[in-house]
Amino acid sequence: MPVFAVKGTHDLFGEEASCYAYIENVFKAVCELYGYKPIETPVLEYTEVFDRATGESSDVVRKEMYTFLDKGSRSVTLRPEGTAGVIRSIVEKKLYATVDLPLKTYYVGPVFRYERPQLGRYRQFIQAGVEAVGVDSPRLDAETIILAMRVLGMLGFDKLKVKVNTLGDQASRAAYKEALKSYFSEHIDDMCEDCHERLRLNPMRILDCKVEEDQKIVAGAPKMKDYLSQEAEKRFYETLSILNDLNVDYEIDDTLVRGLDYYGHIVFEVHAQSDTGADYGALLGGGHYDGMLNMFGGPKDNDSGVGFAMGVERIYSLMRDNNMLNDIETGLDIYAMPLGEDVRDDLFHIVEEIRTLGYSVEIPFTSLKMSSMFKRAERAKAKFALICGSEELERGVVQLKNLATKEQVEASIETLDATLDELFGEEQEEHHHHNHEE
Ligand code: AMP
Repeated sequence: MPVFAVKGTHDLFGEEASCYAYIENVFKAVCELYGYKPIETPVLEYTEVFDRATGESSDVVRKEMYTFLDKGSRSVTLRPEGTAGVIRSIVEKKLYATVDLPLKTYYVGPVFRYERPQLGRYRQFIQAGVEAVGVDSPRLDAETIILAMRVLGMLGFDKLKVKVNTLGDQASRAAYKEALKSYFSEHIDDMCEDCHERLRLNPMRILDCKVEEDQKIVAGAPKMKDYLSQEAEKRFYETLSILNDLNVDYEIDDTLVRGLDYYGHIVFEVHAQSDTGADYGALLGGGHYDGMLNMFGGPKDNDSGVGFAMGVERIYSLMRDNNMLNDIETGLDIYAMPLGEDVRDDLFHIVEEIRTLGYSVEIPFTSLKMSSMFKRAERAKAKFALICGSEELERGVVQLKNLATKEQVEASIETLDATLDELFGEEQEEHHHHNHEE
């Protein structure tokens, strides 16, 4: 009987897996550029971690978590997002007890949500995210958005839609929730079942409702901006003016509330257009939060944070649709071709030396015909073939064939490092030149 992957999960292999690794590496490199350091927390947490941080009224916590009792009858959950576990860890390990605030962390890893699988929506997917905690500053909030934009910029995205909104401070949100409560109470009979519960738990969640028929009612709801305290409003415009200064193009979307309960002040989402017209949903989302460290038993002061998470699957899908993956170099530098069994040992040695120089090399493990080796080299997208028979070995040389231009040079094994540096240097220039002509 065949066995299949769990519904909503997916295997990663081949070129797609290489592209994921590329996206994750770009993300990590940009995080390091902003002084962020990696953090890894368990996929499995006590359920309470998400009940507390993510908020019991959020859809994610109410309906989408993979929660089960372990063999010791403790309720555990596969993380549905990254922030709660990171904050739990920061508090538990007292990482916040440093003078070097903000504490800047980044992570990449799988998260799990029991959602209906569809385009851009999986049950296991990869989030790459950052959390910066311990400093309450519009500048830090802005920097986080700028970091996110730089990741997407480095990946080659240009036409991006950045939506921002403010959820204000506690007082603003309390006033706004009251206003929403009385507005939606009048319309709730015409709204979906979920909205009935949202009205009870947190009326702001209704603004996130995806049900078509509810949209008209949602559109007429009171706006956050009319309930902002003066301070919260000032704070929002401070953040926006920093974004303006750095030429971040955004639009204010006053229906943006984000799916999780812990946000305050600025929240944001980034969307991109697929050339195929497919809509995968937001590429990334995040925002500022207050009070979360304290929620886990941490300090009350310096208890602000800001972060975002991006979905690697969605980024990959868009890059594929928009032909942005072509420039990702996954090819091999050199494919080594032993001519005959008696050179195999020596060539194996030479190949290892070349790897020490930093060039990627493959060598076949079975004896193959020349033509098969060239086919393999082509499939591996190798730039050069390194050909060596016993006659070459005796003279202390190998043949290096540029597989694009078919030019072949003989190189002394003794000075192979210099020859390779020279050949690959030219190759780089050619490549550059080529790209600029296009
Ligand atoms: P959220 O934590 O809901 O704000 O999600 C952050 C990002 O994760 C989104 O912008 C998406 O890129 C990605 N994401 C959320 N849910 C899914 C899902 N079910 N499948 C794939 N990616 C997702």
